[in-house]
Amino acid sequence: MLQNMFEHKPTLSFEVFPPKKDGDFESAFQVMDALGKLSPDFISVTYGAGGSRAGKTVEIASYIQNTLGIDAVAHMTCVGSRKEDLLRIAGELKRHNISHCLALRGDRPKDMSDEQFASRDFAHANDMMDFLREHTDLHMAGACYPEKHFESFSMESDLNHLKRKQEAGAEFFISQLFFDNDYYYSFLEKAARKGITVPFCAGIMPITSAGQLGTTVTLSGSSIPKALANLIAAYGDNKEDMRKAGIDYAIRQIRDLQENGVNDIHIYAMNKPKTTAEIVAAIYR
Ligand code: FAD
Repeated sequence: MLQNMFEHKPTLSFEVFPPKKDGDFESAFQVMDALGKLSPDFISVTYGAGGSRAGKTVEIASYIQNTLGIDAVAHMTCVGSRKEDLLRIAGELKRHNISHCLALRGDRPKDMSDEQFASRDFAHANDMMDFLREHTDLHMAGACYPEKHFESFSMESDLNHLKRKQEAGAEFFISQLFFDNDYYYSFLEKAARKGITVPFCAGIMPITSAGQLGTTVTLSGSSIPKALANLIAAYGDNKEDMRKAGIDYAIRQIRDLQENGVNDIHIYAMNKPKTTAEIVAAIYR
């Protein structure tokens, strides 16, 4: 359970996304069932930046919390939300017995006009956290970026803003995915020097197809080390070999983290229980 993190016990957590279509809930629940069998300490559920699919996030988070009995962390973004939207969602989470959210700014949706963007209620995640802390009893986590957020001109400035999120009530941070552990170690050192004391979860995404690089990874801004680029060059054309090699890379990455004292691991499970199970079996055997 999530509490383990605050007691300095090693934690394993997953990120999942809600179904895109209403009719797909049954298969999404089956995915959650399979991931739940791996006994994660918590599962976080993503949220569309514009907030249009908030209900789906709540529904999946509720299934995780109430049917599976696993702590759920519901992502919430504020870029496209008014204060009243956040309060409504916070109320829904409370009704569903969900006490944790990952409070995010989100990215500006393509269809958001300049006017809407200029008049948004919250400029940054820490503003949203201030508001949620004042008006709700939600526990909050925040996002962090081992290679800095793409809008920040320096790591120093990004870390100053990260500290503001801690001051606004973030109880822990979940990291952007990264493939080179050295970035993470250096980031943790700098964050500690800034006085950031809450726990961090290391975000690991298994690359099981070359196509992932063109989408999720590019958007994340994370750098691709030579070892991973070589692996994709060697196996990218063969689906099963690429899957095995990507899983193996993630396992080695996690083992190295554990050997270096990083014990809170957050797997970007991408709703793939089989891949996730293979990684979990290898690292906790
Ligand atoms: P912020 O903390 O607001 O930071 C954004 C930028 O502004 C940074 O460069 C920061 O340094 C700067 N900044 C922060 N505060 C201030 C301030 N007070 N003054 C000036 N500058 C400031 N997106 C989704 O749409 N849905 C999801 O479910 C989702 N899940 C995510 C999960 C994780 C673990 C991560 C790492 C990201 C996720 N994202 C998600 C993406 C996220 O919304 C984007 O990365 C977004 O660009 C930044 O969100 P944030 O909460 O980190 O923003």
